[in-house]
Amino acid sequence: MCKIIAIANQKGGVGKTTTTFNLGVGLAREDKKVLLIDADPQGSLTICAGINEPDKLNYTLANVLMDIVNEEKIPESKGIIEHDEGIDILPANIELSGIEVSLINVMSRELIMRELIENVKNDYDYILIDCPPSLGLITLNSFTASNSVLIPVQCEYFALEGLGQLINTINLVKKHLNKEIQIEGALLTMYDARTNLSLQVVENVKDNLDQTIYKTIIPRNIRLAEAPS
Ligand code: ATP
Ligand code: MG
Repeated sequence: MCKIIAIANQKGGVGKTTTTFNLGVGLAREDKKVLLIDADPQGSLTICAGINEPDKLNYTLANVLMDIVNEEKIPESKGIIEHDEGIDILPANIELSGIEVSLINVMSRELIMRELIENVKNDYDYILIDCPPSLGLITLNSFTASNSVLIPVQCEYFALEGLGQLINTINLVKKHLNKEIQIEGALLTMYDARTNLSLQVVENVKDNLDQTIYKTIIPRNIRLAEAPS
């Protein structure tokens, strides 16, 4: 059975892409078949995977989604690229930013990503979706297609800001679009052991967030930031 996890937080720069890529490679090293889906028009996950100029790709997530909407034939590869680290990636680029507008008048517009995933999930143990920093239609599509949501939370002063809204959105998706969806857990990222602030944030998140919080906390590590380059 394939497990589909959306990595999401509408807050920017909290470690969604870094988590998606490294978790994916980690799972592949455990001999799991992994597909990473870049659902962010910034294409950061695509760049992380070594595809330096996503905007030059001519078939990406945006094209697959539009082909599904228009009932066009999808190429056999389904836009998926194999990566050296033993993971597959469905890339994205700036074209994805036009999709939200294109989908507005489409019937069942929250279900397009689910259809895409139904077509590929038998080939994988895990599909990880790197969501954009917003709660727009692409994120809703990702939630509708997923079994769970993993929420990276950066150890900084306003860590909890917006989490209520994110959890409400997940609950609304659960009610109306995807009964199965669960919150996988919150992953604290960019922890700096040298500062009291990081320590306070961890305590604050533990006291205020009524969700699973992973015991593993990701330290701030410059090598993680350097890795994509
Ligand atoms: P966006 O909301 O723009 O999609 P994001 O939530 O995907 O951002 P990342 O791109 O993963 O966040 O991380 C933001 C920046 O912080 C990147 O430059 C990344 O390399 C860096 N970074 C992420 N995790 C760590 C870490 N543990 N230690 C040091 N730097 C990190
Ligand atoms: Mg990102």
